Amino acid sequence: MTDNKIKVNDRPVRILLTESIHQSGIRLLRERFTVKFAKSISQDAIIESGKDCQGMLVRIARITGETMKKLPDLKIIARHGVGTDNVDLKAAAERRITVTNAKGSNTDSVAEHALGLMLALSKNMLNMDREVRNGNFGIRYMVTAIEMLGKTVGIIGFGEIGRALAGKLAAMGLKIIAYDPYIPAEKYEGDIISMKKNLEEVLKGSDIISIHVPYNTQTHGLIGRKELDIIKKDALLINVSRGGVVDEEALYDALKEKRIRGAGIDVFEKEPTGKDNPLFGLDNVILSPHSGALTEEAMIRMAMVCSRSIIDYFEGRKPQNIVNNI
Ligand code: NAD
Repeated sequence: MTDNKIKVNDRPVRILLTESIHQSGIRLLRERFTVKFAKSISQDAIIESGKDCQGMLVRIARITGETMKKLPDLKIIARHGVGTDNVDLKAAAERRITVTNAKGSNTDSVAEHALGLMLALSKNMLNMDREVRNGNFGIRYMVTAIEMLGKTVGIIGFGEIGRALAGKLAAMGLKIIAYDPYIPAEKYEGDIISMKKNLEEVLKGSDIISIHVPYNTQTHGLIGRKELDIIKKDALLINVSRGGVVDEEALYDALKEKRIRGAGIDVFEKEPTGKDNPLFGLDNVILSPHSGALTEEAMIRMAMVCSRSIIDYFEGRKPQNIVNNI
């Protein structure tokens, strides 16, 4: 089948997958390219397998400027997801490497994940489950759940995921306040959604806070001690964006001292996070393994979107979702 393959200098173009993706994407790539897999996501393994590759598809592997220097043929990096904080975009631009993401392909999965965390926390679901299994049916007499109806949810970052979440919450009868200084507020302002001019207004006015910003130098530590101090004592905090956006130590202190009611955390400062993470010892936090986007449906969409970007690039079309200026 080599004949159908896209070639450079008479050799099929080689694509490195740093991690496996849904079969549908692998099939699509194999029709046109030689597909290789890295043995691990260490820089050495990526360089070893990728040194003769022209394209790369990346999940959570870090692709640094130093690594790029050792991949002289690399022309395109397709990120299997939305955040591109694991790829050095500046170094890629300097080397004329196109970087794309799969924006939009996991929006509803992540929004549903945030909603799931909110519901599980407000119903105290995990603790109830544990108590019932331990024979404590009497837990029902200690009323520890709250209703979401009528509560105000503060959404920080009102892009694809933030807005999808707002739609779901609005249908459930919640009020929404949002902060996003980079979008035209008047476009979304209405009876149900109120766009705020600063973060503080959202932190002070919300019963539930949900974070949906990208991770970059501006959003690093966006929610730190000062911000956690002004959140309502009864509030829930949801972070499905990136670990570094919330100061994890400050969050631990706020949860331990019951200065906030609870938190739902999908992303961590260091991933994978391990048992030494003090958050594991708290029962007012629900944790998930950066799995907000990992539904069967979104896995197919992400695999297809980034495989198509690579195909578009090598067939001479401009890929969708280019995220760096080259
Ligand atoms: P998006 O680009 O559509 O939306 C991000 C929004 O954040 C934009 O509207 C932007 O203007 C806003 N923003 C940027 N800086 C801000 C700041 N300092 N304060 C307030 N708003 C700010 O992206 P999206 O698809 O909604 O995804 C958002 C983020 O969610 C991604 O960047 C990624 O880090 C994260 N994410 C996580 C998962 C997961 O599995 N948990 C999956 C997908 C995306």
